[in-house]
Amino acid sequence: MTESREQTVARVTAALTGKSSPVAIHRARKIDARGVQDHYWVVADAQGVIVATGTDEESFESACRSVGIDPADDAAIIDANGRLLTPGYVDIHAHGAWEKSFDDGPDGIDVARAGHAVHGTTRQVLSLITNPVGVIERNVRNVRAKMDERPDILGAHLEGPFLALARKGAHDPECLKDPVPELVDELLEAADGCIRQITIAPELPHGIGAIRQFAAAGVVPAVGHCDADYETAKRGFDAGAGIMTHMFNAMNGLHHRKPGPIPAAVEDPRVTIELINDGFHVQNPMVKLGFGFAPHRIAFVTDAMAATDCPDGAYKLGALDVNVVDGHARLVSNGAIAGSTLLLEVAVQRAVLELGFDAPAAVEAATLTPAHALGLDRPNKVTGAPLGLIAPGYAADLLLTDPATWQVEEVWCAGRKLK
Ligand SMILES: [Zn+2]
Ligand SMILES: [Zn+2]
Repeated sequence: MTESREQTVARVTAALTGKSSPVAIHRARKIDARGVQDHYWVVADAQGVIVATGTDEESFESACRSVGIDPADDAAIIDANGRLLTPGYVDIHAHGAWEKSFDDGPDGIDVARAGHAVHGTTRQVLSLITNPVGVIERNVRNVRAKMDERPDILGAHLEGPFLALARKGAHDPECLKDPVPELVDELLEAADGCIRQITIAPELPHGIGAIRQFAAAGVVPAVGHCDADYETAKRGFDAGAGIMTHMFNAMNGLHHRKPGPIPAAVEDPRVTIELINDGFHVQNPMVKLGFGFAPHRIAFVTDAMAATDCPDGAYKLGALDVNVVDGHARLVSNGAIAGSTLLLEVAVQRAVLELGFDAPAAVEAATLTPAHALGLDRPNKVTGAPLGLIAPGYAADLLLTDPATWQVEEVWCAGRKLK
């Protein structure tokens, strides 16, 4: 029986706003940033936290009993039967899916999150597009409210309004601003602690000061949508920027006499580098090159917009009209690339099956590395339990995936079954 998208949204939203349950999975092939292990099992408690993992069946049975699961009860235990067990995917830069954007209010957030969740993205930072400041503040308050209801929403990513006009991409040029201190304070206050990251062009008059201001408030600033030279980008990272927003896209590229912002990010071990692995935003040879630049520091992001997991056609990005042809989204007005239709499931599939990346490295780029960029790979105030690995103490964010196709078949977020 296939359910409609409306039914899926209702079911996923109910699961995420409901309680977690103990989980016991055995006979899996575990793949995470620490490597591959066969005959693997994992047990999580009723709080949605992994309590034990291992490879011998006897300890599996005692771990099951410790969380109140009867190891003889076939209905309570999931037999992975050799399928892949990975941590849930963590997307720190995406705008929407299933015809909705994260800017579209509470119902839009439910729909777009469900679209990503059933494809294995258990946690997501909701990227908000450039808009008039009052609209951004309203959107960020919607994210704040959702965070209190459910565990899967990590907070907001403000992509704008502090972007370089010359590298605006699909953002509305009328709304771009210089990040003067008063405006930064106003946004921080409206957000009430829910901004996880913000993209800033460091060469703006108040760019470096704003990076310092956001970093001091616990936000991770990101260098991007910029036309910065190497020195200015380096000053941005020294001021506290911990992320490079979608490397290669919406920034001056590599040049041997004008190195630009990319080498400044690559050489700095504190910086996580976002990469849109869809083969279109960044073509395959550059994905391979870029992935090799910074081992363990490349985070796959989708930058997915409303048309993600939808047919081609007409969509909106903020107030701007977008046309999607062959899955490629472009502004109607000037043909600029307007976000992707990528899922992290597909980014990992492409990395392993098409580009030939080592599977633990591909999984790491969609799990531990993005979690680390936001300090969520250790106990923290946002998720409580850390994200990104299958190990005791980590959140029970688990995926069972087909080993041949890398399609995600079953999904748990913090012990809640989503698929
Ligand atoms: Zn962008
Ligand atoms: Zn974006």
